Amino acid sequence: MILSRMTWREVEDLDRACVVLIPTGALEQHGPHLPLFTDSLIAGAVAEAVEHYLPAEVLLTPTLWLGASAHHLAFAGTLSASFEAFIRSLQSVIESLEPHGFEKFFVVNGHGGNTEPNGLALREIKTRFPNLTVGHVGYFDYSRAVAAEVMEGPIREIRHACEAETSLALHLFPDLVRRDLLRDDGLTANPPIAGLVATFDEVTEEGSFGYATLASAEKGKAIFDAAVDGLTRDVAALARGFQFEGLPPRD
Ligand SMILES: [Zn+2]
Repeated sequence: MILSRMTWREVEDLDRACVVLIPTGALEQHGPHLPLFTDSLIAGAVAEAVEHYLPAEVLLTPTLWLGASAHHLAFAGTLSASFEAFIRSLQSVIESLEPHGFEKFFVVNGHGGNTEPNGLALREIKTRFPNLTVGHVGYFDYSRAVAAEVMEGPIREIRHACEAETSLALHLFPDLVRRDLLRDDGLTANPPIAGLVATFDEVTEEGSFGYATLASAEKGKAIFDAAVDGLTRDVAALARGFQFEGLPPRD
């Protein structure tokens, strides 16, 4: 079920065991070769595919596209919410549906910079609404093993505008990829000192990492399918009811 296409009476009649699936993305620089909306397009596509497989169990909201992207603001075109605004925006979606009896909320994220604020938003929500079931995951969390398998460059991790993300773009929105501008900068995103906080203009030359010339639509499909499979499995379990090991089932 796709929230934006429904009427309020249709929403009112829904089974409250359904999982409200909320994609979070960004509009931020992705190197010289990928569009600003890359993270929103990927997270939205993963969520739409999961809704397609589980139409009765999923209530899909529009993608929250204004991400926590302050670390990309040195590159023109990037739009960023403050952490406070991002957190309140996600919480507002939950706070709008909670009074109508919806109890399960799951966030699928397409932008690494949203991971910490997503966690903070949901921890705070869980404190105020202990009865809610809430969780968040990055699509990339499901795709790590497959990405490591299919990637050919020396960096076998899903980073930013890299071999993996460019492959996803070639699979999902090939017309938006500037193929003539693909580049291998070989940059790794791994700081020389663990835990260092840096902005993207400090750690990249053009806003990208890795080996984008090695990207292909086939690799992108494999990475995408792994994300959809993993999220479909988790959302189905949330809808069905689950249990913590050693404890009685929850619904
Ligand atoms: Zn990205």
